[in-house]
Amino acid sequence: MKKYNFSPGPSILPQQTYEETAKAILNFDNTSFSLMEVSHRSKGFQAVMDEAVELFKELLDIPSGYSVLFLGGGASMQFCMVPFNLLEKKAAYLNTGTWANKALKEAKLFGEVVEVASSKDANYSYIPKNYQIPTDADYFHITSNNTIFGTELHTDLDSPVPVVADMSSDIFSRPVDISKYGLIYGGAQKNLAPAGVTFVIVKDDILGKVTRKIPTMLDYRTHIENGSMFNTPPVVPIYAAMQTLRWIKSKGGVDAMYKINKEKAALLYNEIDTNPVFRGTCAIEDRSLMNVCFVMTPDYEGNEADFIEFAKERGIYEIKGHRSVGGFRASIYNAMPIEGVQALVNAMQDFAKTIVK
Ligand code: PLP
Repeated sequence: MKKYNFSPGPSILPQQTYEETAKAILNFDNTSFSLMEVSHRSKGFQAVMDEAVELFKELLDIPSGYSVLFLGGGASMQFCMVPFNLLEKKAAYLNTGTWANKALKEAKLFGEVVEVASSKDANYSYIPKNYQIPTDADYFHITSNNTIFGTELHTDLDSPVPVVADMSSDIFSRPVDISKYGLIYGGAQKNLAPAGVTFVIVKDDILGKVTRKIPTMLDYRTHIENGSMFNTPPVVPIYAAMQTLRWIKSKGGVDAMYKINKEKAALLYNEIDTNPVFRGTCAIEDRSLMNVCFVMTPDYEGNEADFIEFAKERGIYEIKGHRSVGGFRASIYNAMPIEGVQALVNAMQDFAKTIVK
């Protein structure tokens, strides 16, 4: 039986990424040395770094004037690196959930933070709209996809100040107009690579404007000047990222990912909306294409553990919802094939047959 991993992260990656990275760990670039033991400054690894950066630029259509960086520290490090580098007086944040909150909390260490809107009143089940972004803010921070609550901003916002986006869980899932952003960051461990590398896309001219001193390692300019090689970069995750990017390109790029992601999400949300045992937890227009959250309808509450077991017997793993939402969360990142989503839908239908009177 085929097994499918619906984990929110670390999560499923393309088979090509696993296989090619495994091969390179045993024998990198026909050197007979492992990828783990070659110098990050070797010609062979420099070619990997260059290709990964080039594929980022090509697949996301990144305009000139932006740099692509591969750093350590996870998206969580960016929660402090962003304000360290960009917040002089005031920053604006959109509060759409746990990760947005964590980012906001760090920014408060550096200056005034305005929470322009929040969906906390409804357990972050929607994306706030109709708010004002202060024109005197140094930047406006959003979390484009809320991995825990299953909501997503489906469009690139117009903003009077640079937009900074945490795209940890939706990068490469849809086309993005990069020119509308000052900075985009994310942990790689959802749509890109194993944990250990953090990507940053930064518009060069937004840097260098704060008056505070920035520690060398936390200054984006250090990493731009050194091509993400100021210190030893996470070579294995970067190699894996390059393989995932090659895979995305071979499948037709981000437009093709977006098309299939919409089909996968529609298949699952349609089942959630029509199956009497389940219901969605988010505002329909804000539903995430990547993390699908759902619970049991009141008549069937209490059967959650049974469904999780039932699904496992059918090859469906890691669908337990986050404790802040409960129920179920199916993460259907780029590498999840539509067959996996269909298997989950079949399990939901079969389970309903066992309990609906
Ligand atoms: N931001 C979002 C949207 C996330 O989903 C996560 C992790 O799941 C993080 C930030 C934290 O990422 P990291 O563990 O790389 O610090």
